[in-house]
Amino acid sequence: MTAQPIATDHALAELMAVEMAHTSGAYTKRPISLVRGAGSVLWDADGNHYIDCIAGQGVANVGHNHPAITAAVQEQLTQLMICNEAYFNEQRARFLQSLTARTPGDLNRVFLCNSGTEAVEGAIKVARFFTGRSEMVAHQRGYHGRTMGSLSLTWNPKYRERFQPLLDGVTHVPLNDLPAMTKAVTDRTAAVVVEIIQGEGGIWLADRDYLHALRRLCDDTGALLVFDEVQTGIGRTGSFLACDQMDVIPDILTLGKALAGGMPVGATIWRDALGTLAPASHGSTFGGNPMACVAGSAVMRVLDEEGLPDRAARIGRQLLEDLKGLNSPSIREVRGRGLMIGIDLRQRVGPVIKALMGKGILASPAGTTVVRLLPPLNIPEENLALVVERIGEVLHDLGRKSHA
Ligand code: PMP
Repeated sequence: MTAQPIATDHALAELMAVEMAHTSGAYTKRPISLVRGAGSVLWDADGNHYIDCIAGQGVANVGHNHPAITAAVQEQLTQLMICNEAYFNEQRARFLQSLTARTPGDLNRVFLCNSGTEAVEGAIKVARFFTGRSEMVAHQRGYHGRTMGSLSLTWNPKYRERFQPLLDGVTHVPLNDLPAMTKAVTDRTAAVVVEIIQGEGGIWLADRDYLHALRRLCDDTGALLVFDEVQTGIGRTGSFLACDQMDVIPDILTLGKALAGGMPVGATIWRDALGTLAPASHGSTFGGNPMACVAGSAVMRVLDEEGLPDRAARIGRQLLEDLKGLNSPSIREVRGRGLMIGIDLRQRVGPVIKALMGKGILASPAGTTVVRLLPPLNIPEENLALVVERIGEVLHDLGRKSHA
């Protein structure tokens, strides 16, 4: 596992300074520059390697630089890079076919876009379009993106303050609180929006009974049920969609992140029974472009060929057990399903993330106390064992320091 350094220390520092001089300021940057990835390993410009438990924020489910994805994109690159949906395109048709073959029920209508937040924007418009209503109920700790519509559904005040007013008529209820939800949903509610596992909010799982109750509530009131599976989808939790394990079918489904293995893509998918949008009622220049579509088709082939959803379920169970087995006094709880796992700490997460990076493990925070692990689904088991070992060491070291 080696890579040639791409830049001298001096040149690297200069390049980082250039980026800092032009950064929007919207990101807290970590002081390494990544140059290459293969499978579950990333290399920085100094030639250090890392086991990647971030996977580009849950994008590289099939691993970095998967040869099947790379080959599909390279081939398409020589044919046609852009084709707006006003024209037919074979690659788009094939992608839509393999995607809707994997969505449950009659979730067969698809609006393709380029990111998760756009998929949620699409869901908001689809819900308004088909119900003629405008109000929405989402969840506390929920995350759905940061453009103005999706931000209205996102709960964390940290993201919302300074951008008011957001969309009118959005309320947030605690996850799994059916009485609160029942009170919030009325005959003015266009949609109820939920993540099957809240990702950014700290890996909180929606109960199966709660999801079934939401389905009934929506059927009774005429509201549409939206599952935001931007983070939980594409094999991450041990099945193609997280809702597959819950036996509940939403009216609208949002996907993004891992759907095209790293090519930007998003999808708003809804039930055939609802019908189609009116011409020009929505649109996207890049949506449904052939580059994203061939990558998406390749992702689905790889998921099948490598049996990745099942693998995620199996090694995710083991990872959960191993993390619990650390018996660290710093750990309050380990939660998750498949390879979407949160380690809820009795301390702030920042120093743990930093110390893990120093030991060659990349992980990201979710909320203020949760270490989130979203490794590629084909990560070798010995790499995961190393991740557990390093987490144990870091928690032990930091625990000792705090008592010193
Ligand atoms: N919904 C969920 C559940 C997400 O986790 C995210 C991204 N973390 C989004 C929407 C927004 O996706 P994007 O960052 O691609 O806009």
